[in-house]
Amino acid sequence: MSVVEEIKQRVDIVDLVSQYVTLKRAGHNYMAPCPFHAERTPSFHVSPARQSWHCFGACGTGGDIFSFIMKKEEVEFRDALRILAERAGVELDQRRDPQEDARRARLFEVNETAAAFFHAQLLDAGATAAESAREYIAGRHLAAKSVEQFQLGYAPNSWQALTDHLASRGVSNAEIVAAGLAIEGDRGVHDRFRHRLMFPIRDERGRVAGFGGRLLPGEALGAVEHPAKYVNTPQTPIFDKGAILYALDLARDAIRSEGRAVIVEGYMDAIAAHEHGFGNVVASMGTALTERQVMVLKHHTRNLVLALDADAAGAEGMLRGGDVLDTALEHENVPVPDWRGIVRMQEKLAADIRVLVMPGGQDPDDVIRNQPELWVELVNGARPFLDFQFDAVASKHDLDVPRERSAVSSELLPLVAAIPDRVLQSHYLQRLARLAQVDESTLRLEVRQPARARTGPAVAAEASAPRRQQTPRDRPEEFCLALLFRYPVARAGG
Ligand SMILES: [Zn+2]
Repeated sequence: MSVVEEIKQRVDIVDLVSQYVTLKRAGHNYMAPCPFHAERTPSFHVSPARQSWHCFGACGTGGDIFSFIMKKEEVEFRDALRILAERAGVELDQRRDPQEDARRARLFEVNETAAAFFHAQLLDAGATAAESAREYIAGRHLAAKSVEQFQLGYAPNSWQALTDHLASRGVSNAEIVAAGLAIEGDRGVHDRFRHRLMFPIRDERGRVAGFGGRLLPGEALGAVEHPAKYVNTPQTPIFDKGAILYALDLARDAIRSEGRAVIVEGYMDAIAAHEHGFGNVVASMGTALTERQVMVLKHHTRNLVLALDADAAGAEGMLRGGDVLDTALEHENVPVPDWRGIVRMQEKLAADIRVLVMPGGQDPDDVIRNQPELWVELVNGARPFLDFQFDAVASKHDLDVPRERSAVSSELLPLVAAIPDRVLQSHYLQRLARLAQVDESTLRLEVRQPARARTGPAVAAEASAPRRQQTPRDRPEEFCLALLFRYPVARAGG
């Protein structure tokens, strides 16, 4: 990703422009009096979907975040780049030269060739080894048009098949390794993906950035005793798993028109959704949903629905998700309204993260195929993240027992403390006080003065509560929703 792209991904134009003018929502867009010319009737538009601005008045011009800063701060592009890089927390030293861009373009090209190769292998009836992949696809009731649309493929059970094919097309070993398609090891350069069902992973612009390879029945060459269900392309110059969402290239229009994105865990879930007309579905590819993924989605919508399986949803670790909620929203400038403004303020919040829980043991894939109307119901019934958390924690405890109420309090309090907005925080403090039958002012004190030695109801429970696992961190600045998707491997048939 170029520095400019990276900055664009991290800086939301609505946030940026909001620092200069007060934007009013108008449908999918925002409007304001133009910051560049004097006017009474607002003719300045900002489109979050396109991440662009335009003045339809005297200026008659528009652009992106860079041109906005250039015009507003009256600086050259270089300085606008510096200002925005700082805001985005992007190191400008990483700035890439034309050679680097050419190298990246080449890697996309190599991946494209590999995707075509894998796809041809899958469709080649003569390739008997691909039979298990075809059987798997048939078993999942995947339509032929989906196999084609998502360009599914088969990686032969060979150390050399892909490497040889690419070499015959003039691709060097170094390029194959750089693309993550081959590994340089004891046996020389050899194919990374062997005997796997292949999912090309495309970036938002539809370019093949990497691959996911699913385990198939039968033993792959060099397989370890308990092979991973999925092998992915490692981090490469063009593949950053934490910033990519499967099927977003196909989903972006539907996400915009529906004003909502649904995030599922697996490739198959996303494919099934698109096959059955639910075009606003993307997959996090079994990883933690990262802040960068949320930022990418926010270019298209602020309404996100996480489809969780029942196991993950019931997990205690769900609470950690609050970290992402917090970090993903912290760039927003949410004005604090009066008490009655809570509802309005919710609307103004940057991302509305909701949660839907799959009915016991079912994948989105199953539900979408067999009960599409239930899927619609589940998505529409998705609950605000915090409400969901409250219910999830409360349902685990017997609220008639004081000690249990105390546990509820100590589990939810960190989450409430993490809410950046004071009004929203107060709302949830009240709810927590009612739930745990604790004096609200006591809770408030704990939230506002975390450094002090804690007194009150949470202490006893905290001492006796089992230690929670630490969440893995993808990057220092970013927390993961790892535990939301903590059982991808254990799931059957995904
Ligand atoms: Zn203007």
